[in-house]
Amino acid sequence: MSLRIVVCVKYVPDATGDRHFADDLTVDRDDVDGLLSELDEYAVEQALQIADEADDAEITVLTVGPEDAKDALRKALSMGADKAVHVEDDDLHGTDVIGTSLVLAKAVEKTGYDLVICGMASTDGTMGVLPALLAERLGVPQVTLLSEVSVADGVVKGRRDGDTASEQLEASLPAVVSVTDQSGEARYPSFKGIMAAKKKPVESLDLGDLDLEADEVGLEGAWTAVDSAAQRPARTAGTIVKDEGEGGKQLAEFLASQKFI
Ligand SMILES: Cc1cc2nc3c(=O)[nH]c(=O)nc-3n(C[C@H](O)[C@H](O)[C@H](O)COP(=O)(O)OP(=O)(O)OC[C@H]3O[C@@H](n4cnc5c(N)ncnc54)[C@H](O)[C@@H]3O)c2cc1C
Repeated sequence: MSLRIVVCVKYVPDATGDRHFADDLTVDRDDVDGLLSELDEYAVEQALQIADEADDAEITVLTVGPEDAKDALRKALSMGADKAVHVEDDDLHGTDVIGTSLVLAKAVEKTGYDLVICGMASTDGTMGVLPALLAERLGVPQVTLLSEVSVADGVVKGRRDGDTASEQLEASLPAVVSVTDQSGEARYPSFKGIMAAKKKPVESLDLGDLDLEADEVGLEGAWTAVDSAAQRPARTAGTIVKDEGEGGKQLAEFLASQKFI
């Protein structure tokens, strides 16, 4: 039977662009360019390698995000994933990580899965907690932060590297794993892959399709709230230390005043 892999990929604001908060203190996602979170490219890469090793496998990439999040799905499809699922609904506005894990769990269950692969953290929220929440909601084992991962005989195995030791971990499928940026460079989409991605199916789901009510997600359903947010102050001109014999001393005093030394 085919190994069903679902890869959770997030569409994130481009960190090189200007980012700001909307009036309701949520991140303004409409007014900024976005892209597939770079850390999720590693998750797609590992899915492709696992699928290559399996006799028969199908990779679905899944995102919860606004209309433009389709760009992230297309990138993952152009890398080689087979199909995509996009959960999009106006009522998702303001959904926190608890709500996002609920929506993803429902979508993963609807899609059908043996293995869910996530990135280690998104490059915007960077909580790194979603894979654990997702596993809990699905009621399956989680093996997180893997720098090496493989699947054989209904078992997922991996290596988690810590500061003092490397652990070899395994779990029976179905399971949720997350992979780190040490798991292996993600491939670039080939021209053929980009062309093929245009024809791959992208299923759109809304909250109703997932039997979810609006008040279970969005700002209303969020367990967390942002009380205030302020734009980072503009950079000021640097301090120039001119060496007229006392330069070293002045430099040391400056570094000490900034608590660098
Ligand atoms: C339209 C929209 C509006 C939002 N508004 C808010 C808000 O106002 N306040 C708030 O707290 N949060 C909001 N969120 C949710 C937030 O952006 C995160 O998706 C969520 O909180 C997960 O946290 P994280 O990014 O830190 O996940 P992490 O735990 O760092 O992510 C780990 C991994 O989980 C997977 N993952 C995470 N998010 C998604 C996703 N959306 N789709 C698919 N896979 C994913 C990826 O594989 C990722 O590498 C919003 C999300 C969307 C799409």
